[in-house]
Amino acid sequence: MGFFDKLKKITTNIFVGKIKVDDAFFDELEEALILADLGMDTTMEAVEQLRTRCRKEKLEDQEEVRTALREILVEMMNVGDTALTLDTVPSVVLFIGVNGVGKTTSIGKIGNQLKSQGKDVLFCAADTFRAAAADQLEIWSQRANCQIVRQKEGADPGAVLFDALQAAKARRSDVVLCDTAGRLHNKEHLMKELAKLSKIMDKEAPDSSRETLLVIDATTGQNGLIQARHFKETAGLTGIILTKLDGTAKGGIVIAIARELGVPVKFVGVGEGIDDLRAFDAKEYVEAIV
Ligand code: GDP
Repeated sequence: MGFFDKLKKITTNIFVGKIKVDDAFFDELEEALILADLGMDTTMEAVEQLRTRCRKEKLEDQEEVRTALREILVEMMNVGDTALTLDTVPSVVLFIGVNGVGKTTSIGKIGNQLKSQGKDVLFCAADTFRAAAADQLEIWSQRANCQIVRQKEGADPGAVLFDALQAAKARRSDVVLCDTAGRLHNKEHLMKELAKLSKIMDKEAPDSSRETLLVIDATTGQNGLIQARHFKETAGLTGIILTKLDGTAKGGIVIAIARELGVPVKFVGVGEGIDDLRAFDAKEYVEAIV
């Protein structure tokens, strides 16, 4: 089984035998893309681009049309660097997103990957709202063999980040992976908290390279996209982690999110285990679903 084997091929019923590139073909494709969770806007855009290319380049052959569609979808996701920017010691990565989407799990998985690349990684348990959140993160820190800085439930998240940055500087840690509270879907709350965390970074690690990753649950489909828009307006997102792709057959949501937010998908979660996270490769992904 490959990583994306549970995802349905979008085009199973479309690219069969000798195809006829006519209106009926594009209608069918449109339907298939919507069913695959690309959403209305992204579907329309993709079909329009494909129509134009087929006409201009006189594409008729099944493989030619498929290749053109793949190229169009890959290009739609080409909205920024998919690798994490970790240029300074320490670098800081904030993880934001609502409860249950897989923030803690993703921190554990990414910590484990960075650790295996020889980096010193420090977890920062700045979700102080739920007692269980720091406990969960601690369990992941043990699995990934990373250090963790935490405080008591109800502590000020800024104070935890402050501590983590002090510890990171003292240890010369390469990366601080910082969890945040999932209750921050209220815009004002989120904005205030992120501003506070930024201020602490500005003071304690002014030149640090920073990432703010939004974690989204792929199984929530178009609702995930609505959620993501809301976060994007408030936080300066640098990347998306789309979790639980193993739990959906509809892979189009990845394309819709990257295109509509204009923020690159950097990782996808494909299971609950520590190794179930992939650096996102748009070409590989599109080849799996188209
Ligand atoms: P948080 O509240 O955002 O920190 O979410 P958690 O990290 O605690 O994850 C919530 C649930 O989602 C847990 O049961 C995780 O095992 C599960 N989970 C996280 N990522 C994935 C994934 O990629 N695939 C699957 N199947 N489950 C995941």
